[in-house]
Amino acid sequence: IIKFENISKSFNETKVLNDVSFDIEEGRFYTLLGPSGCGKTTILKLIAGFETPTKGNILFNDKVINKVPANNRKVNTVFQDYALFPHLNVFDNVAFGLKIKKLNKNVIKTKVDEALKLVKLEGYQNREISEMSGGQKQRVAIARALANEPEIILLDEPLSALDLKLRTEMQYELRELQQRLGITFIFVTHDQEEALAMSDYIFVMKDGKIQQSGTPVDIYDEPVNKFVADFIGESN
Ligand code: ATP
Repeated sequence: IIKFENISKSFNETKVLNDVSFDIEEGRFYTLLGPSGCGKTTILKLIAGFETPTKGNILFNDKVINKVPANNRKVNTVFQDYALFPHLNVFDNVAFGLKIKKLNKNVIKTKVDEALKLVKLEGYQNREISEMSGGQKQRVAIARALANEPEIILLDEPLSALDLKLRTEMQYELRELQQRLGITFIFVTHDQEEALAMSDYIFVMKDGKIQQSGTPVDIYDEPVNKFVADFIGESN
């Protein structure tokens, strides 16, 4: 569904991605795993259309989309800090993108209700964001992404603000949701245990390059170099 062909990205003189190529197949759970600053978020921004590549092509269903603006891509992002609108209630947060698309009111209501049901927040429509816990806020952010019916959901460290117990619970729920809906998830984390637990495929990154891509079992059993072996072997 998404293909990176020899993508490089520089900001001023700094090369953040260096000749990155990969293929993302539809309906799978992918994780970009690597230490802080290795370029994970930059890959998500390129897929979402918030940045354009310095070199190389990004393809969506075999068409080059390097310059397609973000709002014309079938992609939605969930951020670590939720990026919800604090002055709007749950309904209006989830409905935000649908209102921009000027959908009919009843259609919006149905889509919002369905999305909230998927994240187990039925009945929370009128709650204020300030009254929600961290886990609930992240569910609202996920519902907002789902309500737009994207083909790809990008998740940038969505669980890192949560405590360990909630985090483990949400890992399971996100994975279950992805499998049930069958849409493509691209998840970013620096936590190797999280990556191993959740993913169909992992791309291990360092310094703007993919070091290894493969299933969790491949990467755990046969790391291609010392960096991958050490990074995967580390425990938090
Ligand atoms: P983290 O886990 O800390 O978010 P990351 O792997 O997601 O890290 P990126 O956010 O992709 O890393 O950033 C990679 C590098 O690119 C960093 O050194 C960062 O400072 C730099 N960078 C990112 N965006 C910009 C920008 N708009 N202008 C200049 N430098 C940038």
